[in-house]
This record gives sequence, C-alpha cells and structure tokens, in this order.
Amino acid sequence: MAKTITKRSWAEPYRMKMVELLKVTTKPQRMKAMRDAGYNTFLLHAEDVYIDLLTDSGTNAMSDQQWAAFMTGDEAYAGSKSYYNMEKAIQKYYGYRYVIPTHQGRGAEHILSQILIKKGDYIPGNMYFTTTRLHQEMAGGTFVDIIVDEAHDPNSEFPFKGNVDMNKLEALVKKVGAEKIPYVCIATNVNMAGGQPISIKNLRELREFTQKHGIRIIHDMTRVAENAFFIQQRESGYEKAKIADIVKEICSLTDGATMSSKKDALVNIGGFLAINDWEIYEEARNLVVAYEGLHTYGGIAGRDMEAIAVGIKESLSDSHQKARVGQVEYLGEKMLEYGIPLVKPFGGHGIFVDAKAFLPHLSQDEFPAQTLAAEIYIDSGVRTMERGIVSAGRNSKGENYHPNLELVRFTIPRRVYTQAHMDVVAESAAMVYERRNKIKGLKMVYEPKFLRFFQARFDKLK
Ligand SMILES: *Cc1c(COP(=O)(O)O)cnc(C)c1O
Repeated sequence: MAKTITKRSWAEPYRMKMVELLKVTTKPQRMKAMRDAGYNTFLLHAEDVYIDLLTDSGTNAMSDQQWAAFMTGDEAYAGSKSYYNMEKAIQKYYGYRYVIPTHQGRGAEHILSQILIKKGDYIPGNMYFTTTRLHQEMAGGTFVDIIVDEAHDPNSEFPFKGNVDMNKLEALVKKVGAEKIPYVCIATNVNMAGGQPISIKNLRELREFTQKHGIRIIHDMTRVAENAFFIQQRESGYEKAKIADIVKEICSLTDGATMSSKKDALVNIGGFLAINDWEIYEEARNLVVAYEGLHTYGGIAGRDMEAIAVGIKESLSDSHQKARVGQVEYLGEKMLEYGIPLVKPFGGHGIFVDAKAFLPHLSQDEFPAQTLAAEIYIDSGVRTMERGIVSAGRNSKGENYHPNLELVRFTIPRRVYTQAHMDVVAESAAMVYERRNKIKGLKMVYEPKFLRFFQARFDKLK
C-alpha cells in the first residue's frame, strides 16, 4: 500500500556553497584520544572529532551574505560604520534604544552587573546561567531562582518550562523589599533548563507586577528567536504571528538586554548590552572603555559587527527557525524510536539524554553522564558534553552537589550539520544503549578548583 502524507517536512532554507572536510577516525584511535583526554570531552582535540555537538556557542555557519558583509567591515578605532550598522539592526529588530558592543555575552553581563547591583541586592531569575550568576555575585548580589518547578523535572512535559513562578517572585519581594531588587533577569529559551521557552502571557504578568514595584526587567536574549518559534507553535493567539514580531514584542516587555551573539545571531564571536535608559547607557559607556574597548567596537572587530547585523535579520526568518528547531526535533524523535531516555519537551538548541535512566546500574558518584559522553565519542567520534554531577561541582563545605538532572547534552550548531549526520548521532547513541549493561563508570583522578567540568580528568573503573 502506498503511504499517505500525514505531515509535510521542513527543509533547510539554504544550500551548500563551501564544505569543511572532517577527519574520520578508527575506534582504536578514538579510544586512545579519549584516554589521553582523561575521559573528558572538553579535553579532546577538536580535530579528532567527527560530529561536534559539544555546544551551539560560536559554532554557527555564516551565510554568504554574512561573509560578504564581513568583507565590508570598517576597522576604524572610533565611529566605525559597522558599529552604526549593528546598532541600526538592534534598534530595528529588537527595539532597544542604546547599544554597547562587547566581546561576547559575559562582557555585557559584567558591565550591567557592575552598574545595577549593589552589595546585599537580590537578583531573581528564571534559572541561573553560569557566567550570568558569577557576575551578579562578583558585584555583591545574590541570585534567587524563581523558575516554575516543572523546569527541574525531566519528566514534565509542561510547554513553558522557562516561565517565572509569580508566587516565588512575590514571596521574595515581600521578604527582602523591592528596593533590594535592582532587576529581574529573564532568559528566553532557558539554557540550563534544556532550551525551554517562557510564554508572552507569563512575561506580561511579570511586567505588570514589576512595574507596580518599580523593578526593571533585564532580558538575557541569547536565544530569543528560538523562544519566539516555540511561542508561535504553542501559545494561543500566536499561531499566525511572525517570529520577527514575536521577538519585538518580547523585547518590548523588558527594559534592556544582554546578548551572546554566538548563539541565536549566527556568528562566531561577539555580543552586546542594549538598554532603553539613557543614564544606564551613559554609565555603560564609561565602563566599556575600561573593560572591553571604545563604545563603538567593545572588543570585537568591525567585520564581526557587520556579520552580527546580517545574522540578526537572518535569525528572525520563520523558515530558518523552522529548520533549526526541526533538526533538533528530528534527532530527538529518532532517539526516542530507539528507546533512549530523553528530557521532554525537546529544547530549542539540543537534545538532553537522561544518563541516570540510561545507565541505572551506575551510582551518581560513578559519573554516569561523563561516562556516557565518553562512550559515545569512542563509538562514533560524536562529541557531546556532561551536564550532571561534574558540572554541578561542590558546595562551600567541599561536598559534591548531587543534582536531580544527570544529563548528556547533544547540542546542535546552527546550519552546520545535515539530517544524515543526525542519523549517525542517533544510531551511535542506540549502539551504546544496546550494550549499556556492560558499561563501567569512571573515577575522578584530577579535579581543578573552579568550573571543574572543563578540565577534570578521569580513569575507567575496573
Ligand atoms: C552563552 C550564554 C551566556 C554567556 O555568553 P558568552 O558569549 O558565552 O559569554 C549568557 N547567557 C546564556 C543563556 C548563554 O547561553
């Protein structure tokens, strides 16, 4: 019987004009490379990786239009034309008034935190991000998690796991007072929750509440376009809206933003601080010259600012996001067919495998997610990363945190890999799943003091 069509496919709204050749390695070569890297995928040489799903940060493929713009970069120290082009794009597509370029997202976080946070302040947010929280703490603030409980549960299929729990925010305001809260930090498509969106409805409630209390909203807009795609797919009243319009609406409900252009904006480096308040902008202009560079280049080249201006526009195209998130979903569906335990709903930037359920015979102290990431690399040369007990680190008493989520992240770079690559990835995870009972855990043999997941070394348990 002929098959009937039940669903129309997405496809990439681009074609290839140049390719980068990859090295294909043998299993003995990968076993040696993994041993030499201390069973930590961060310590592999990228050259030895076949399909690199370590991160979606700075790993984007630029378009011919971006490369063309790159060549027009104006490298003037002051007043570069490229700065004004980037500023114009940010004002037009995001709607923020004033723009300070920075070398990447954390540069903007640093400057903003130094300006707005006083010692003893509290900064509520919809889950933390590593660099964001660090800069809040370095400025003397304390981060408070106000995300909905569903975000911490890998089995919850709640469609807006990035939402703020208004009761948690209200309780904080009651407890410490609005004057101790310089701003609420709202991430779109929350990274640490697995790329999960916040709804417009929730943002509006938040806006109303914070305005009543005179509290600003600062937007971590690193993945705003991916969030807008989920709103278009899931939020009632937005089915027909354009991603570009949804993004503009999200931004209009906030007072300013920090951005890592290395994600959504389709470039390899760069970021910015955008703000509507002139006084904050003036202070930021003072600080940027000390930490980043003059306020018309902020630590990036003119050519990078040109590529960002074009990348912003391309990132807001409906067909781009449909293919981007479509590819992530394709990988997720494929892995589900093989019975692999995953976090759902699928996120915008990657698939998160539940390593506790994958390797139930390993205790969390035998590093199931770290082990699984190493095994997948050895099987196929696919590089993923641990998000579990190693990433969580130790508390101030020196004890290991034992986080609920013990995950391996398969992060998909934008516009880089094909559907056939995704097949190879899913099949590799399935092969490792088939022999999961034989897999032994790891022991840590070297532990760095800070952010240990980057440089820790491990050995196989006998
Ligand atoms: C990557 C990221 C940042 C920091 O940006 P960098 O460009 O890496 O400095 C901040 N917030 C979120 C949500 C991110 O994913």
